[in-house]
Amino acid sequence: MTGVPVPAAPVPAAPRPRAEVFSVDAYVGGESNLPGMNRVIKLSSNEGAFGPPPAAFAAMAAAAKEMHRYPDGGMAALRQAIGKAHALAPDRIVCGNGSDEILQLLIQAYGGPGAELIMSEHGFSIYEIAGKIAGCTVRKAREKNLATDVDEVLKLVTPTTRIVCLANPNNPTGTLIPDAEMQRLREQLPQDVLLVIDAAYAEYVDLPGFDAGIALVDAGENTVMTRTFSKIYGLGGARLGWGYAPPAIIDVLNRMRGPFNVSSIAAAAGIAALADPDWVRDGRAHNSRARKKLAERVNAAGFKVHPSAANFLLVDFGAPESAIAADRHLRARGIIVRHVKSYGLPNCLRVTIGTDEECDLVAENLTEFQTARQATLADG
Ligand SMILES: *Cc1c(COP(=O)(O)O)cnc(C)c1O
Repeated sequence: MTGVPVPAAPVPAAPRPRAEVFSVDAYVGGESNLPGMNRVIKLSSNEGAFGPPPAAFAAMAAAAKEMHRYPDGGMAALRQAIGKAHALAPDRIVCGNGSDEILQLLIQAYGGPGAELIMSEHGFSIYEIAGKIAGCTVRKAREKNLATDVDEVLKLVTPTTRIVCLANPNNPTGTLIPDAEMQRLREQLPQDVLLVIDAAYAEYVDLPGFDAGIALVDAGENTVMTRTFSKIYGLGGARLGWGYAPPAIIDVLNRMRGPFNVSSIAAAAGIAALADPDWVRDGRAHNSRARKKLAERVNAAGFKVHPSAANFLLVDFGAPESAIAADRHLRARGIIVRHVKSYGLPNCLRVTIGTDEECDLVAENLTEFQTARQATLADG
């Protein structure tokens, strides 16, 4: 009996997913609960400070009466409403189950094994997750002062680069790519590289003439802009986003998406939200004011605040332990913000701009944290 292998005990057959699936960790969202706390102030997911426009509640309640019917898979009424609100042709719009779905579909369609996807160093984590799941090689371009550096993005381009994904403003850094830089990037990228401009926070940008990406989409065949109802419209729970793209890319997305990827409740909420004439203007005005004030107060408390064009601030505590201690201090007082260590920013907490009362509480508690910390240092 030589060389005859002993058969191994049979392993129960189990389905095995593609290896790419295990190349990523599951996305972890901002936390919502603190054990033992009655009132929690959640400033961890950049949800708009005021929830949805009141008309969206009524529209969702009315839509609930029709829940036995499938939605219109083509989302004609919603695309019409989006088109009207943004002066865009409805047939160049595709709606999604959150803009995350649009991003994932684009990456699946244009990426894949052998394809490279470029994002910025501290870019939104969904690009990396969706890119790796699709089999892409994900490359991260170095940033300058936490902002996307167009030259660094261009340096990473190779013949196998297929997609560049940039959030503008970016989450979690809050930095903005100026229009002229975005244009220069598009001009210098190869024509067959898809540029995805994720404009989830565009409504908060307080710059006259700011273009969230529409002009670049219109100018060619290779740029897509994605938008969401999850931020200024306060509808993160409804899951609603959309993309604006050239006809050939719209066709690709319509082939790939689920036939009923957007619920009729979400669509009704979106249509009603868009009909509120002052919602965006008022939300943006509040955000700019509250963000400036909070930045000043956090600065005065002795912490560095990065400039932000979005509805959150990135606060730098100088060291990971300090960021963790500040996070603990806030949590003990019912305030949840986001430690952005997983984004490669271990010294920082990202704080969503809430109502004035919520911002005041953050400022007071960070000031108190600093005072207590300095007293300890002085004692020690
Ligand atoms: C919040 C966010 C989104 C929006 O995701 P939805 O799926 O529409 O809720 C997209 N991109 C960035 C950068 C975000 O921060």
